[in-house]
Amino acid sequence: MNGDIKCKHIMIKNWRLVMDGRMHRFPLRILGTPHISEAGCRQILSPRIQAATLMAQHRTQTTKAVIFDLGGVVVPSPLAAFLEYERKLGLPKGSISRTVVESGDSGAWNRLERGELTLSEFADKFTEDVSARAGKRADMSGLLTYIGNGLTTPHQSIIDAVKSLRIEGLKTALLTNNWAMEGEGPNRIMDRDLFDVIVESSKVGTRKPERRIYEICLQQLDVKPEESVFLDDLGVNLKAAKAMGIRTIKVTDPDKAVLDLEREVGGLCLRRFVDGTTTVPEHLRIPMDRLETFFNQKLNLHSTEPPVLRCFQHGQSNPTYYVYYAGQHLVLRKKPPGKLLPSAHAVEREFKVMNAVGQFGVPIPKMYGLCEDSSVIGTPFYIMEYCKGRIFKSLHLPGMTYQERRDIYFAMADTLCKIHQVDISKAGLDDYGKKGGYLKRNIVRWSKQYEASKTEEIEAMNKLMDWLPKHLPEREAVTIAHGDFRLDNLIFHPTKPEVIGVLDWELSTIGDPITDLCTCLLNYYMPANFPMITSFQNMDVASLGIPSVQEFMDIYCQRMGIPSIPSWDFYVAFALFRFAAIIQGVYKRAISGQGSAPNSKLVGEFAKLMAEEGWKIASNSNLRPTVSMAGGGIQLGNTGGKRNYSTSSEGAVNQMTVSPKGLSPRAKNLYDKVKDFIEKEIKPAESEVMEFYRQEQNCWKVCPTVNRLKEKAKAAGLWNLFLPKEADPEMKLGAGLTNLEYAFMCEEMGKVPLSSEIFNCQAPDTGNMEVLVRYGSEQQKRQWLTPLLNGEMKSCFGMTEPKVASSDATNIESSITRERDHYVINGHKWWTSGALHPNCKICIFMGKTDKSAATHRQQSMILVPMDAPGVKIVRPLSVFGYLDNPAGHAEVIFENVKVPLDNMLLGEGRGFEIAQGRLGPGRIHHCMRLIGNTERAMELMLERTQNRVAFGKPLAAQGTIQQDVAKSRVEIEQTRLLVLKAAHMMDNYGNKVAAPEIAMIKVAAPNMALRVIDRAIQAHGGGGLSEDFILAGMFSWARVLRLADGPDEVHLRSISRQEYRKYNLSKL
Ligand SMILES: Cc1cc2nc3c(=O)[nH]c(=O)nc-3n(C[C@H](O)[C@H](O)[C@H](O)COP(=O)(O)OP(=O)(O)OC[C@H]3O[C@@H](n4cnc5c(N)ncnc54)[C@H](O)[C@@H]3O)c2cc1C
Repeated sequence: MNGDIKCKHIMIKNWRLVMDGRMHRFPLRILGTPHISEAGCRQILSPRIQAATLMAQHRTQTTKAVIFDLGGVVVPSPLAAFLEYERKLGLPKGSISRTVVESGDSGAWNRLERGELTLSEFADKFTEDVSARAGKRADMSGLLTYIGNGLTTPHQSIIDAVKSLRIEGLKTALLTNNWAMEGEGPNRIMDRDLFDVIVESSKVGTRKPERRIYEICLQQLDVKPEESVFLDDLGVNLKAAKAMGIRTIKVTDPDKAVLDLEREVGGLCLRRFVDGTTTVPEHLRIPMDRLETFFNQKLNLHSTEPPVLRCFQHGQSNPTYYVYYAGQHLVLRKKPPGKLLPSAHAVEREFKVMNAVGQFGVPIPKMYGLCEDSSVIGTPFYIMEYCKGRIFKSLHLPGMTYQERRDIYFAMADTLCKIHQVDISKAGLDDYGKKGGYLKRNIVRWSKQYEASKTEEIEAMNKLMDWLPKHLPEREAVTIAHGDFRLDNLIFHPTKPEVIGVLDWELSTIGDPITDLCTCLLNYYMPANFPMITSFQNMDVASLGIPSVQEFMDIYCQRMGIPSIPSWDFYVAFALFRFAAIIQGVYKRAISGQGSAPNSKLVGEFAKLMAEEGWKIASNSNLRPTVSMAGGGIQLGNTGGKRNYSTSSEGAVNQMTVSPKGLSPRAKNLYDKVKDFIEKEIKPAESEVMEFYRQEQNCWKVCPTVNRLKEKAKAAGLWNLFLPKEADPEMKLGAGLTNLEYAFMCEEMGKVPLSSEIFNCQAPDTGNMEVLVRYGSEQQKRQWLTPLLNGEMKSCFGMTEPKVASSDATNIESSITRERDHYVINGHKWWTSGALHPNCKICIFMGKTDKSAATHRQQSMILVPMDAPGVKIVRPLSVFGYLDNPAGHAEVIFENVKVPLDNMLLGEGRGFEIAQGRLGPGRIHHCMRLIGNTERAMELMLERTQNRVAFGKPLAAQGTIQQDVAKSRVEIEQTRLLVLKAAHMMDNYGNKVAAPEIAMIKVAAPNMALRVIDRAIQAHGGGGLSEDFILAGMFSWARVLRLADGPDEVHLRSISRQEYRKYNLSKL
């Protein structure tokens, strides 16, 4: 598309103005989803709006306001009701109206209209007036109700005219002689908001034709008499107005009066009003005779009346018209006039795609036909049905209930899925665009466009142009992409939450469907202070019922049958980048071509703001440079590479060291120190500590040797080794090791299980500290993280519940209820490891804050001090008889525990998000340690089998034992490599990309450890099962780990899902 050419046509596209019925002057506030089309951006400068305003001003120079009488103009005349009432009472024809006229100002009627009589006073007095003239009693007490009942339906043509006038920027007034009806008046008949001004005689104490009432009306309209037109059915009222200089139209037939009014207001179209349409501007006029001929010949439509055309105001770079002809409500969409690039404004494409997808379940207006012959109306065009429904311009859906809003948004998600599920080939759209490479192509295109329109260096744009190509999603799905999928491009059923038409397919192509999803969610990412576009950032949209990004995505994924959307940050950053590039282009053209365009400076600022927002998302993203997981190996994508702060061994770009010898000098040095400390300090103390805990009285105490060793380790700098560099890049809190580096040290710790506690690297504190580092507020960090990092306290993590299958955490039932300035917590947990430790001070508690939210938005995590009233430890649980004391695993009841609001982590409904984060490094430490466990088991086995003699020779001489040793070595080596690969993946490509490897290792390591330790136990005979050797304890722990970090089955499930996903994506 050629922007310059489009600019000449000063179209408005895509963004909706808040048009409260009038033309606005800048600054405009644009509500509607952010929009990314160039035409949309042009609207910021709004040349067409200005042109239209100027045109309207020119045409209606002398008319600024139109004043309507009520009875006889907006609604039928009450005179007919007078006649009927007379007939009913057997009064001579004309008795009532004659009484009104002849009684004059002192008569009951006029006094009622001036508000001088109440309704009951009027009934008596008017009965007297009419009776006196009729010569018999005529009860008038029911007259007003009778009149009122007959005036309920306004004339549609007049209502259309009023709405049309307002959209053209003219003021409107209702000037009515009426009576006080307990606050009802015109309300009962019509929407008062139709008029800018309503003057009611009973309220202002003067009535037509008194001069004063016209003066009041003009004053309120703030116009001069000659700038206004007055419509009334009574000559006497018109005469008085005319005498003041007001132009007048006598209404006998409302339809005809509207035609007269059209002439009076300079040819504005006041008929067949449709929301969002105005008079067709001069330069977009269509030869009506030829259009009519087309209707007759091609659509077989015939009428004695010419077509009525109105022009849609917004959302169209392709001019779009509402057409009323032969009783049909149609829409005509055409190319703009003038010279265009061949690919620009391709209405033929729109017609083709709409026609095609409409046959595959996408709601589309009925398509009547395409006319490619430019000789008919000057350009190709197509005709479709006008769908009468609701178009929501305000994203908050004002006036709707919580549930109605949800339903509308979910219908929107549904519709998007329908588009993306269209089978391109079956729909005959194989040639509708290139299949694949959409994102890359678009990054190149918009980068070029931005470079060409750059007016100053926007740092954030440069960064995005560098970042985006490096983070292209690994796989791009290929579907029909709408290109501009937003709420206000959808027509909803008049009453149901159902989309009946998807509009504006101009930007559609074959592309990446997630760009559509992102476009319709971009409001959530708009800067809160962005002046033109609705931002949801500082808005509590959840309380309105509008789904969150996560909820919307969940619905989308569910309907599309995909597990999740990887690389979401990329799509958001990309959308904002594209938006910024478009805005910059508009700005450049504005300052070069239309130097005086208002607000062009402001527009330039928008581009920067957008880019900065995009960069904020990109730079805070966990996304790593693209890798391909095909075949389970690591392949760099076309733009792949290491992330800019590699955490793998220095200099080892994408190389995975498989031995501590390959570690960086710093890491190797630390590794040697850890190994040495374990060997010299911890291992010798192991039996002493075990012995301490064999004493019943010491069960829940901290062994002094442990404390002593901890102090020593801390002093030696062997402390908090677990905290990955990624979470603590400045190494302020821990040793700043990569996962791979730590893996080797962790293995050493696994050989002497006590070690992880000595180095402050013990679960669940490690996972909890990571949570606080990543998600804790400053205050939470001060209060809880610092003492944990210092080893001054212990913590626990409470998710699992005895009453529900907690391997699926969506099941958990505990509640976190907000009450004024605190939360109240209730729940029953078990297997809360660490809760029994005498120093355990804090629990990260998972519970539900909103059971009605989307499945993964119900849960939250909150910090619960273990000494809070209502926290009750029920009992310690044992594993095969092991209490794992002094930390233990507790059953805990939380009963009406109150905690301050500040204890909430990250925010309500974000528990799953945190749980995902917690699944990272902390969870593979167990696997790393298991490798150490098995090395220790091997060591014990080798030692035992060489010294133990059975049947005349050492056990080691038995073939079966040799086989066990050999098998164990094979399995340990295999598993270690997988552990190291998982760590390497996490370091280089992030936890998300490494998710399959993390899941694999969680299954592989405990199962391998069970086999290896079991062989060692077997080789030890009965002693192996006793506490005399560490093997039974290690076996029990390895068994625990087939459950405690999530059951094997759950990990296997996610691995298999990944496999299927890869397979299915590769087919797309
Ligand atoms: C020693 C130990 C320490 C623990 N520490 C903690 C802790 O500190 N904090 C905490 O919150 N929790 C802790 N846990 C709990 C642990 O996380 C849970 O036991 C585990 O998540 C399983 O939940 P569940 O026990 O409710 O089993 P359930 O959810 O009832 O599952 C039972 C079994 O069902 C099967 N199953 C489940 N899902 C699937 C599936 N998708 N496909 C096929 N089969 C399936 C599996 O075989 C599973 O073992 C600990 C557990 C142990 C044993």
